[in-house]
Amino acid sequence: MTHADAAAALSVWVALESPTSHPAGVNGMMDLVAKEVAGLPIAVERIAGRDGLGDMVMLRAGLDNGQPAVAVMSHLDTVHPVGTSSKDLPVRIEGDRLYGPGVYDMKGGAWLALQAFKDVARAGSAKRPMMFLFTPDEEIGSPTSRGVIEEIGRGSTAVLVTEPARQGGRIVTARKGVGRFEVRLEGRPAHSGSRHADGRSAIREAAHQILAIEAMTDYARGITTSVALIGGGTAANVIPQHAWFSVDCRVTTLADGAMMEQRILGLKAHDPEVTIRITGGMNRPPYEKSAAVAELFETARGVAAGIGLDLQDCPMTGGGSDGNFTAALGVPTLDGLGIDGDGAHTLQEYALISSIAPRRALMKGLLETI
Ligand SMILES: [Zn+2]
Repeated sequence: MTHADAAAALSVWVALESPTSHPAGVNGMMDLVAKEVAGLPIAVERIAGRDGLGDMVMLRAGLDNGQPAVAVMSHLDTVHPVGTSSKDLPVRIEGDRLYGPGVYDMKGGAWLALQAFKDVARAGSAKRPMMFLFTPDEEIGSPTSRGVIEEIGRGSTAVLVTEPARQGGRIVTARKGVGRFEVRLEGRPAHSGSRHADGRSAIREAAHQILAIEAMTDYARGITTSVALIGGGTAANVIPQHAWFSVDCRVTTLADGAMMEQRILGLKAHDPEVTIRITGGMNRPPYEKSAAVAELFETARGVAAGIGLDLQDCPMTGGGSDGNFTAALGVPTLDGLGIDGDGAHTLQEYALISSIAPRRALMKGLLETI
């Protein structure tokens, strides 16, 4: 397949917009996957979506020898709302760059890994069973797919995740754990002019809590907290009865995750007449570079060397992925095996067309070696 053919085929995937909240688009992507493998020695299982989210597709192929499988995982949802490609981020090629919503995170990786999976299934060159799971909801923390991801992980000898490559093709062998919390505050409303002293401002209380939470950031320990969504109040002249905000928390170890969960859930109201209700917790456990992950990485380095690539990994990254779930179960997991490029979650998102062929060859080699 030429670079141009690959770019054209991937462009079809990118042009079909599939934000997590748009199950019709996500299901359209699942249809494209099923269409790709029609007529090949690959079994397709479709798992119906729930809670307003899209379906999952599971592919099975390879050697049926009773050994644990090698599993590939890709999400087909993106963060970009429908309409992004018609105005802010048109699907287009500029030199080696293919631009479009979700091309880098992670339709490019999902597409090239599927081509590799097809190559191996067609050639009959797998050493064990192979599975490929396509999920609809990674960008919101995988609420409906986590169970399936963990079940497949438990039955696999290794998990390969096709999130984007980093910094010139580096793969990912460790990720921070991610926590999400919602804080809701309720005070007492009052006219801000005539009855100011009677009011108990939920926003004022939120301000205290936000500063306390942000102060939990400890860069030396790899702990960060940030409040990035906030709301409250009804009018400029009313002491606000309600306020809310969300907290994002990142940690490097399971123990720190438990500690931060306890600290955030245990916050007490500064003003005793304002009630505070905190929900949430750690969503993705940390993915640490265990000895088994390091060993799998060395295997991948060997495969890469065979196709002329000097494969490197990057230091623990702050972004979570579905690889966190399988790695936390002790299943050797490699991530960042997707396409190279930049601009994930932005309107400058692009993938490097020249990275498709080598990354596809790397995935094929991994599927034949592990
Ligand atoms: Zn992603």
